[in-house]
Amino acid sequence: MYLGSVRFFKHLIVAIILLLIFGLLIAAISLAAINKNYKSQISDMQSGTILAQSNLVEEKHQNSLSIEYQERYPDLYATPSEVRRIEPKTVYLTFDDGPSFRTAEILDILKQEDIKATFFIIGKEGNKNKDILKRMVDEGHTLGVHTYSHVYDNIYESVESYLDDFYLTYKLIYDATGVEPDVYRFPGGSINKYSSQDYIEIIAEMTRRGFTYYDWNASSGDAVANATAKSVYSNTVQSSEGKDRIILLMHDSINKSYTVSALPEIIEYYKAKGYKFEGITNDVSPIAFNYINY
Ligand SMILES: [Zn+2]
Repeated sequence: MYLGSVRFFKHLIVAIILLLIFGLLIAAISLAAINKNYKSQISDMQSGTILAQSNLVEEKHQNSLSIEYQERYPDLYATPSEVRRIEPKTVYLTFDDGPSFRTAEILDILKQEDIKATFFIIGKEGNKNKDILKRMVDEGHTLGVHTYSHVYDNIYESVESYLDDFYLTYKLIYDATGVEPDVYRFPGGSINKYSSQDYIEIIAEMTRRGFTYYDWNASSGDAVANATAKSVYSNTVQSSEGKDRIILLMHDSINKSYTVSALPEIIEYYKAKGYKFEGITNDVSPIAFNYINY
């Protein structure tokens, strides 16, 4: 009898083993298929992420290319110097806000002393007397841009308004002298309460265009209401004390006769201390205010 025989049980065991092997095989194949599917899903997710990221980079790049003010004034560019000189024991006399009816007097003194200086020009003043701009250049001085209007509320309103104003003076200096100015000074210095919203963006845009700005580390104090020749001289001496490189702030303005009166004595002071005088050129390492959070 087959059922219940030893042979029957042998066959039964073999059949069970075969079924187990078959079952394990099916399970293994299923697991492999699930794993493969899972892996491909992860891969899709990853490549999707990478695609999304690269779209974002592309988008950012597009955005950076489309800052409108970068397109303005395609001729408003300068070539920055590759080197920045730090000359020891040097003073850079700077006159802001001119030209004025005082400019000729200042130029006469500089000529007599045989020294070079820098004039940061207000365009609307320069427009009245282009010949004096030419004389400044002919006598070896540097002309820089100090904006056209000098009206803080307008020029610091936005990067666009700063550029619009700057360009007028840039063109004026070029038309009057044939020199393309590449240095400039911000009215009120690079950081002041009017420019606090925009100054980093304005500086970044001007730097991108190759222009170099110069603040000051000594001041004649000639812009205060009760200034005199004496106060201008003593402020100059006090603020220059102990400094090796000096950019001195002065003003070229009709009502500042005291600055002109003090100038010969100021020059003598620096000469006696062994300073040499230079006009600012864009290879001079700038003196700039520290960024402050207003
Ligand atoms: Zn000024």
